[in-house]
Amino acid sequence: MLPIVQPAEVTEWVEAERAAGRRIGFVPTMGYLHEGHRSLMRLLRPKVDRLVVSIYVNPLQFGANEDFTSYPRDPEGDAQACRAEGVDVLFSPTELYPPGFATRISVPALDQTLCSVRRPHFFTGVATAVHRLFRIVRPHFAAFGEKDFQQLAVIRRMVSDLAMSVEIVGGPVVREADGLAMSSRNAYLSSAQRVRAVSLSRALVAMQGAALKGEAQGVALRALGRSILDVDELDYLSIIDPSTLQPVERLTARARVVVAAYVGKTRLIDNMPIGVD
Ligand code: AMP
Repeated sequence: MLPIVQPAEVTEWVEAERAAGRRIGFVPTMGYLHEGHRSLMRLLRPKVDRLVVSIYVNPLQFGANEDFTSYPRDPEGDAQACRAEGVDVLFSPTELYPPGFATRISVPALDQTLCSVRRPHFFTGVATAVHRLFRIVRPHFAAFGEKDFQQLAVIRRMVSDLAMSVEIVGGPVVREADGLAMSSRNAYLSSAQRVRAVSLSRALVAMQGAALKGEAQGVALRALGRSILDVDELDYLSIIDPSTLQPVERLTARARVVVAAYVGKTRLIDNMPIGVD
């Protein structure tokens, strides 16, 4: 595995691989890698000849009072995980943006709702970083987790709207044995909070079960979910159309239930399909 810090060096390496006819896969991350990240590497492996993983805690996507400086970091553990997954290049730029960087990429139709209400700059920060990473890494395929469902929708829209020649592959949410969606931020939870955090996935599973039994009304399903959530602050619990991210009041076949909530100071998100034919 080749560790690379300089963006120009990655581009040079990728250009040579592309010229030799090799297919490049890319998994962008903020590090502190867990099974969720690793599942994306494994998802791309059969499709590509070379696998690039980036680790960059992107300052553009953190608000002033958020956890940019305290975001968990473990460069050695991350390198070990990438080696174990057969990653070819581990790209860990100390800086992604050139001096004077002033451009922003945003997808307004998808970033006025859900997480954007609480974190208004978040998806512009994500799209700007991912756009620049795609220009540097020039992948044929890039994988993103459904865990960050709104992010995946924003990236797909950006790639389509800007005619970027990369295929986006979405990977299912990877969970702990008790159902908690894996997240680097789970490291912030105390053991008592960790117990309460599992109420997010429990609420979604209960809503799925009620939908399967025939409940199709959003109001009733959300009331059930809220009765199970054991959180300090609920940001949103919504049933949405997966393409527009807009709420639906009656279940549709493709509907998705999405939740964001604080347990202590830790903001957790999760989502599941809930639609029934
Ligand atoms: P992050 O390091 O949190 O920015 O995440 C990097 C990538 O890993 C994103 O595409 C996330 O959606 C994905 N990811 C994070 N957690 C999970 C999970 N539990 N299951 C699947 N994908 C995940």
